[in-house]
Amino acid sequence: MSERIFIGVAWPYANGPLHLGHVAGCYLAADIFARYHRLKGNQVLMVSGSDSHGTPITVRAEQEGIQPQEVVDRYHAVFLDSWERLGISFDLFTSTGTENHREVAQEIFSSLLSQGYIYTDNMLLAYCPDCRRFLADRYVEGVCPHCGDERARGDQCEKCGRTLDPQELVKPKCIISGTTPEFRESEHFFLKLSAFQEPLLEWVRKQTHWRLNVLNFTRRFLEDGLKDRAISRDLSWGIDLPVEGYEGKRIYVWFEAVIGYLSAAIEWAKNSERPDAWKEFWKDDSTRAYYFIGKDNIPFHTIIWPAMLMAYGGLNLPYDVPSNEFLSLEDRKFSTSQNWAVWVPDYLDRYDPDPLRYLLSINMPESGDADFSWSEFVRRNNDELVATYGNLVNRVLSFTYRNFDGQIPTPGSLTEVDRAMIDTSRSTMDLVDDNIAACRFKAAIGQGFSLAQAANRYLDTKAPWRSIKTDRDEAGTTLFIAIQVINCLKMLLYPFMPFSSQQLHGFLGFDGNIEDGVWDFDSLIGAIQPGGSLRSPAPLYTKLDASVADQESQRLGVEVL
Ligand SMILES: [Zn+2]
Ligand SMILES: [Zn+2]
Repeated sequence: MSERIFIGVAWPYANGPLHLGHVAGCYLAADIFARYHRLKGNQVLMVSGSDSHGTPITVRAEQEGIQPQEVVDRYHAVFLDSWERLGISFDLFTSTGTENHREVAQEIFSSLLSQGYIYTDNMLLAYCPDCRRFLADRYVEGVCPHCGDERARGDQCEKCGRTLDPQELVKPKCIISGTTPEFRESEHFFLKLSAFQEPLLEWVRKQTHWRLNVLNFTRRFLEDGLKDRAISRDLSWGIDLPVEGYEGKRIYVWFEAVIGYLSAAIEWAKNSERPDAWKEFWKDDSTRAYYFIGKDNIPFHTIIWPAMLMAYGGLNLPYDVPSNEFLSLEDRKFSTSQNWAVWVPDYLDRYDPDPLRYLLSINMPESGDADFSWSEFVRRNNDELVATYGNLVNRVLSFTYRNFDGQIPTPGSLTEVDRAMIDTSRSTMDLVDDNIAACRFKAAIGQGFSLAQAANRYLDTKAPWRSIKTDRDEAGTTLFIAIQVINCLKMLLYPFMPFSSQQLHGFLGFDGNIEDGVWDFDSLIGAIQPGGSLRSPAPLYTKLDASVADQESQRLGVEVL
């Protein structure tokens, strides 16, 4: 029976291009999951968009002396181009700058206000006497009161992940002038998170399928006790409050950005000319909602967004939040300011998308932090993609194409070794299936590659390049089996490496999109028929020179003017 899967993916701030840490953090995993479910015949809706508001945008605009909207437009276009070239297959990648999003965000705000889950109160806000203005949270830095980290921001400590208010910081400073801010009173709207302490604890207790890191973080956060949080700010850039008399204030960015998951689904439904279609994903409780995010985003998706949904009522809560840990680069933390990063557009200008997707999958920071290094990239590309999998495909298809008139050979009777190879393929497909469904992507792709290794061993044992001289039927049987295995590999590696799988699909003689097929072992085996036409094959992957690692490492940390 077909399932319905909603996939929400973190909304990147449109203030700069994305780097590999972001891809490893959430975008790749979400895409693998979406492609897998589409192959399973399930209904998938995967959405995200550019976060157009917030201080990261206004800081950038101020630095460049341009309007915030210009910053958003520029990087939104860069994101769309990156998704296209990297193969991140969103059903909709929109932005929080749309009219639709404003309406939905204001509707939720108004509903929570009328139900008493939002109230006004005075709060202390950081005011810089030198800059002569109220400072947005990210303009204030200081020492984290929880873990003592010296570079905690006014909204969150990156070290321990806890959300903060600027006045909680020890030794707060304005990031522009370095001045100690004053705290002045201003009237703001508060979200009554404290009302959801018990309902959230009860809900989280049932989420035994969550990753341990997500579950533990969420439990600890709840056990610290939930405090009401201000959800408006003294700003001119952002969504207006739907209440009269607050013209100089805006809805605070984190409150409206998470609403993007809902507003994007509504926009997608409008675009597809079935304006009610979003309800199947949000109101039918058989739909499972997954949120792919980086670890610094956990509290917003396991606490704040669920609390907002509980308050609003009638919409599905998250089913799972498979957050990844961090990726480092050559053993150092990614840093935009020090240009210690590999930018997605730069990578895609120089290399194919699948080798990156492969490396970030087999080395995904799922249950612990992981590191990206260029030497590992080159090594895995050459030893694993080219030598193990690419070589398997190339030697089987080229040899068959040359010796059997470009056709799939007719098998004779199967030996035990042949049957064992087919059985291994079937059991691998089951394992990969279970692992992707449970968001264990690293294990899944590892099993796919074990099958490629098993197929190489099978070929070495059967040596069709020798038997062809003495027993053509025997060689044909071996190649027939090997092509069946390759057809399975094409499918089970497709979620990870869609471009090369699509290319292989063509070499195997199939027309059209690989996603028109289904993730089903028997139909994959059955699709390889004696006499079927193959197309002239070419290598799926390119070997990289060892000097690539040195050249690329030298680019890191060099300031780009
Ligand atoms: Zn901290
Ligand atoms: Zn200042």
